[in-house]
This record gives sequence, structure tokens and C-alpha cells, in this order.
Amino acid sequence: MRIILANPRGFCAGVNMAVDAVEQVLSLFGPPIWVYHEIVHNHHVVERFRSRGVTFVDDLDSVPEGRLVIFSAHGVSPQVREHAKRRKLRVIDATCPLVTKVHMEALRYARQGYEILLIGHKGHQEVVGTLGEAPATIQIVESPTDVADLRVRDPDKLVYLMQTTLSLDDAKAIVEALQERFPNIKAPPTDDICYATTNRQNAVRAIAPSCDMVIVVGSRNSSNSARLMEIAEAQNTKALLIDDVTELDLAHLTGNETILITAGASAPEDLVEDLVRTLHKTFDGAVEQCNLSRETVRFEPPAALRAIMRQRGDPHDPHSVQQDTPHAADEPGMYAGDIPLTTSSIPLKRSGS
Ligand code: SF4
Repeated sequence: MRIILANPRGFCAGVNMAVDAVEQVLSLFGPPIWVYHEIVHNHHVVERFRSRGVTFVDDLDSVPEGRLVIFSAHGVSPQVREHAKRRKLRVIDATCPLVTKVHMEALRYARQGYEILLIGHKGHQEVVGTLGEAPATIQIVESPTDVADLRVRDPDKLVYLMQTTLSLDDAKAIVEALQERFPNIKAPPTDDICYATTNRQNAVRAIAPSCDMVIVVGSRNSSNSARLMEIAEAQNTKALLIDDVTELDLAHLTGNETILITAGASAPEDLVEDLVRTLHKTFDGAVEQCNLSRETVRFEPPAALRAIMRQRGDPHDPHSVQQDTPHAADEPGMYAGDIPLTTSSIPLKRSGS
């Protein structure tokens, strides 16, 4: 079996920053600590923190008054910030800066009198947070078929914004439908779908047609992981989304000669390693990494955390526990310590095609 590792895959800068923030707070204060919503949408990340005394809550009333709470990478609405103030909670805001950018755009356009069409999934925590910035002027658009039913005040004073983790293909179809119905609709000043979502999707789109199957490591509630699976299927390649290797029925893989492995932006690399190790052992797999792009983005820890560390004169390096995303290796080497790894940048043809 040929096992191809997509690069980039796995943790993005926003997830690194948010996970690192919880690690830092645990090491500074110890448990118990509280996090509003899952810090990132990954079952293993959440369970690992839970086992170390972190409580994840969906309602700030569950956090004892005056205690410290961390806001997740997906961001929160101004109403949640107000709620935290009323309960005198100490907040460390681990919202990804690329989510904050969309919040700021929503605020700015709302102040300028624009009506906002937010392309995204209703109920997703990121969308709920952005919607809260200007609830009276934002409508959510989930699909091209929603466009015909939209009622707007002034078609010449409209802008669209996006959730950061959408499928590029789905978003494009919705934008085209919006532009057809509202030719003067404004686009966001820069892309709202983030670099990590874009790179991971582009890698799958490029490599999946050469593979018999794609396995995405990630949780089902992770929007960007689910999109990776859909993109593979759109290339007519079978795809699976699994939290970890224990969810895999190895019998289903027999007969597949080339498997692409990728991971959503919130999936830890050690889960990918477990999967690769199992496939390598079971199917005598040769492992190669296919490098589509390099990522060097890194975000500072949340401002409130930096301030706490400054006040304490803590010498701890704020990045010392940050997990790096896997880097593109230029030379053959080892993966997960002892698995021979070659590299390629041009995917070969699918077996039998
Ligand atoms: S997927 Fe994108 S928006 Fe979400 S946390 Fe990562 S970098 Fe930020």
C-alpha cells in the first residue's frame, strides 16, 4: 500500500494558539479551570484537557463568579462578553485572530449602514458569535437555494462575509448566486475563508484524484474536517472522517492501493501518527509526504494571558508548549520516529486510471 500524507494538514495557527492558552493557564493556575465551549472542535483535545481538570461549559452561569474562563478559538458574541462581565469573570479570549477579523468587518459594515449576508452554517459557534455583532443587520446564507428567498432593504447597500472554515467550492457557488441576484453586492476586503482551510482543501483537491481513498483525521463537529471529506468525495474518491484509528475497519481498506491521509485544523498529529503506524504495519505500507504548501503563520497568545504572565514576571516562554504543525520535509527521512518517509510534490496517477 502507498500511504500519502498531505502537507499541510492538522493544527493551524489559531488552534495552536488556543490549545497553548489552555496549557499555559493550567500550568500557571492549575485546575479547575473553565473554557466556554470546546476550545477547538476535536474530541481528543477536549477529552485530554477534561482529564486534567478543565471544565467545558456552554453557559457562563456554570462558571463560579469571579473565576477565570477561556473563550474558545471560534469566538463569542458581544452578548457573551457582557454576560462574563456581569458575572465578574476573568476572561482569556483565545478567539482566532482570523475569526476576530470577520467580527470587525461585520461591525464596520453595520456601522456604515450595510446589510450583511453572512455565508455560513446556522448554529455553528463561529457564526453565532459573528451574528451577535450586528443581529439586526445580518442574515445567514447557507446555500445557493437560500438566495432567492432573501429580503433586503437596499440591494445597493449589501455586503457578504463568510465563516472561516467553509468549503471554497460551496462558498463560490453561493457568492455567484448572490452576485447574480444582487449585482452591486460588495465582497469582503480580503478572503474570509482562512489560509489553513484553503491550504488543507487545496491539498486534498490536488492529491485525492490520484488516490483510491482519503482518510481525514478529525471530529464530526469540526467544520473544516467535514469539508475535507466532502472535497475528496467531490473528486470521486472514497473518503472517511475518523476521530482516530480505532474507528477504522481495516478490512474495508483491503484492495486500496493508494491512501491519502490528511487531518482537520484541530486534529493533533499524534492521531495521524497512530493511523500511519497501523496502516504501515498491517499493509506493509510505504509512506510518502506530498508537499503542497508551507505554512509559517503563528499567533501571539491572548493579550490577557500575556498581561498575567508579565505581572507575574513569569519567565515561561509563551510558545514553549506550542505544538508545531508538521513541516514539509525536503529530504527523505523518518516519520513518527521510525517509519521511513519519502517526499514528493507531484501526485502520481490513481491505480487503474
Ligand atoms: S481554521 Fe482558520 S480561522 Fe479557524 S482557528 Fe484555524 S486559522 Fe483560525
